[in-house]
Amino acid sequence: MHLSLYRRHRPRIFSEMVAQEAAVALLRREIGKGKNSHAYLFSGPRGCGKTTLARIVAKGLNCPNRGEDGEPCDACPSCVSIASGDNLDVVEIDGASNNGVDEIRELKEHISLSPFSGKFKVYIIDEVHMLSASAFNALLKTLEEPPHTVVFILATTEPHKVPATIRSRCQHIPFHRIPVGAIVECLDKVSAQEGSAFEKDALWEIARESDGSLRDALSLLEQAISTGLPTFSLEDMRGILGGGGRSDLEKLVAPLRDGSSEALVRLEMLLERGLNAERLLEGMFLLFRDILVAVRWGEDGISALPLSDSEKEFIRKESGQWKEADLWRVLEFCTKTLPRARFGLKSEIAFGMFLGLFSTVSVKEGALPSPREIDAVKEAARENVPQKRRDQQPEPQAGKSASRGEEKKTNDWAECVEAMSADNLLLYCACISTMAANDGDMVSIVFPEKFRYSFNIAASPRNLACLDSIRENNFPGMKMRIVCGERTVTIAPVENGQTPALPRPPEAENIDRASQDSFAPPEMKARQHAVKAPNEKAAVEEPKESFSEIQRCFNADLLVLKDENPDGADLPEGATCE
Ligand SMILES: [Zn+2]
Repeated sequence: MHLSLYRRHRPRIFSEMVAQEAAVALLRREIGKGKNSHAYLFSGPRGCGKTTLARIVAKGLNCPNRGEDGEPCDACPSCVSIASGDNLDVVEIDGASNNGVDEIRELKEHISLSPFSGKFKVYIIDEVHMLSASAFNALLKTLEEPPHTVVFILATTEPHKVPATIRSRCQHIPFHRIPVGAIVECLDKVSAQEGSAFEKDALWEIARESDGSLRDALSLLEQAISTGLPTFSLEDMRGILGGGGRSDLEKLVAPLRDGSSEALVRLEMLLERGLNAERLLEGMFLLFRDILVAVRWGEDGISALPLSDSEKEFIRKESGQWKEADLWRVLEFCTKTLPRARFGLKSEIAFGMFLGLFSTVSVKEGALPSPREIDAVKEAARENVPQKRRDQQPEPQAGKSASRGEEKKTNDWAECVEAMSADNLLLYCACISTMAANDGDMVSIVFPEKFRYSFNIAASPRNLACLDSIRENNFPGMKMRIVCGERTVTIAPVENGQTPALPRPPEAENIDRASQDSFAPPEMKARQHAVKAPNEKAAVEEPKESFSEIQRCFNADLLVLKDENPDGADLPEGATCE
């Protein structure tokens, strides 16, 4: 009979266990001293060795040749029969398929019998969280007063689903994911025993892919061995895993950073091989996290990372090319987008977002607008504030509140950008490297000059409408505009009573005439101002006069043009831009 690699190489005694040192040490001590508990709860991720260790515990409890350190001999009839699954005193139950109260009642009858050959009867209930409520109740009574010859070992991947009453009657032993390095070591040993040659990088790829589960790692290894190749390379492993592994993503980093078209070509290839958005984002997160570790902690950080030598070399090289703030931005993007990817985000879209992000995360020239750019915008804004309003404010207070206000507003803007990620990811990506500067009643959102693309995204009708509602909620009564170099699009409040209608300001020299003032998209105004005030009329009419400008500025097509309601009592309609 063919036995899978995982079963053939299953640890048979405590000292063969991979990782789980704390659990192993505790159980050996207890068994060695004969002070074992009557019920254990083993919890931890799948494939980390819970049932394997449960069997070793059963051997240790019943082995007549057991050492003082609790280690079973693995040679006596008891040990051999437990290993082969023929021992009548060790009963393994799958909680998922025997989850009813009847099975537990049957179990209880069985329990009352004394052990056949060994000292203890050991009941291993796997996936115990799958038991029904009545089955748990039936089990509870037994756990309260078990015969002294019975030991329960309950195993679960989800301990929180096990009722507290059960948990409190067990000794809870948590298991951990097996570290990647330990899995690689084990794979290396097993492949050598099987007479197969593997490139070290291929083993690292398997280990990382198995996400802390030795069982998964060994079954991947078996899959690789069954191909019959004399030497198994990283490239061969990629063929099995279907792309999107660490080494594939590494190749994306430099083209993404440099904005090269190679990034697109490479991703296209990965998509063809079945990479999905979730895997792309997870892999990217880990990769950039590692670069961040290297940037922050240098060699100390790199040596602590669970990576192969060639992977460490890659991280070392990349870390010289990145600024910490940019790395944080990429990580933040991944964590925000990942939940969406779990609900089914297309890989192409995730990658498009990546491209947007990277076009704003400029490594070499700095991602945020330069102080010069911001100063120019502030200066322009100052010129726009009517002289009279400025004169009305008492000087010292105005200075104070203005600077405090500015600080606050700038922080507010960062929060606004944060909030965008929840309902408008595209706008979030576009605005991620903007800064807000405000002067008087004008908030200027400044895009670095070279991010014209992001500016254009923000200037689309849909996103302008979104920005306007952000303005209304966070900067009430203020005007807002987005600025990128020479180009400006302004969104003005026209709500009655909030702000007096301002005289049309003189145009600042560096501001595009075409995009001057009051450019709220008409559809937005129509939507927002159901109640019409007399002084709004001018503002509402403005877009009508400026349709050609709007079209040019927003790169929009004019689809519908409706006349305003002449008596002004109803909803004023502008144009619908698409
Ligand atoms: Zn033995």
